[in-house]
Amino acid sequence: MTAYSLDEGSYSVDSSKKFVPFNEKTDKKADRKGSMFIHVHPFLIQTARDLILLDSGLGYADADEELVLHQNIRKSGYEPSQVSLVLLSHLHQDHVGGMVTKKNGRLNLAFPDAEYVVQRGEWEYGYSGSGSYKTDVMDVLQRSGNLHFVEGSGRLNDEVTYELTGGHTPYHQAFHVNADGDHYFFGADVLPEPEELQHKFAAKYDYDGRKSMELRQQYGELAAAEDWVVLFYHSTNIAIGRVQLVQNTFKIVQA
Ligand SMILES: [Zn+2]
Repeated sequence: MTAYSLDEGSYSVDSSKKFVPFNEKTDKKADRKGSMFIHVHPFLIQTARDLILLDSGLGYADADEELVLHQNIRKSGYEPSQVSLVLLSHLHQDHVGGMVTKKNGRLNLAFPDAEYVVQRGEWEYGYSGSGSYKTDVMDVLQRSGNLHFVEGSGRLNDEVTYELTGGHTPYHQAFHVNADGDHYFFGADVLPEPEELQHKFAAKYDYDGRKSMELRQQYGELAAAEDWVVLFYHSTNIAIGRVQLVQNTFKIVQA
C-alpha cells in the first residue's frame, strides 16, 4: 500500500459549521443534537515521481506550534519537506487549514517545496465572499509562488488527473492518481464517507445536493467496475477502501 490516512481526529459539526473535537470515549452524541459526526483525514500517496498530499485538514498544532499534519506524515515514515505536490479538492476550512503553519504569530506555507494545485474557479469563489472561506490562509499561498491553477478537467502529469465535479462547491474537484499499478480516487466532499454510497440522499450542506448525489452513484459504479482504491476524507470507519456492487447495493471493504 502506498497510501496513508493522516487522521486528524473526530469532530461534530452543526449548522454554525464550527468543528468541535469529539472524544468518542467520553463525549455523548446525544449532547450535540443536530450535529453531524465526522473524522478528518488528509491522505498521503507515494508515487514514482511525487509524494502527494490530498487536502490538508484543519491545521491543528500542538503546544510547540507543530502541525498535527506534519506529525502524522512523520508517523507514516516521511518528512513533511518531501511532499512535492498538494492536491486541493476545494478550499473549505477543514481542507486547507494545514496548508500553512503558524510560528510566532506568522503564517508560512506548510510545504514550501510543494506545488499546490487549485481549481481556479474555486479560488475566485473563495475570495468572492460567497461562502465560508479562510482568506488569510489563501493569502499565504497567493504570495508564495507555489500556486498552480488548473481549470476544468484534465491531466496534471502522467500519474495524476483532475476532474471538475461541482456539487459540494461550484468548483469542487476530484483527483485520480496512479501509483504502484493501482488507481486511487479522491472524491473529497463529493464522496466523503462510505455510507454515502449506501444511502441515497441530497445533502443540505452541498452547494448542489442533487448533483453530488448523482456523482456519488456514478463514481461508486466506476470504482466497483474498475477496482479503484477510494479515499474517504470524512469517514468514521473505512478510510481507504475498495467498492463492490452486489445486487445493486454498494459494499465497501478495507483496501
Ligand atoms: Zn467542504
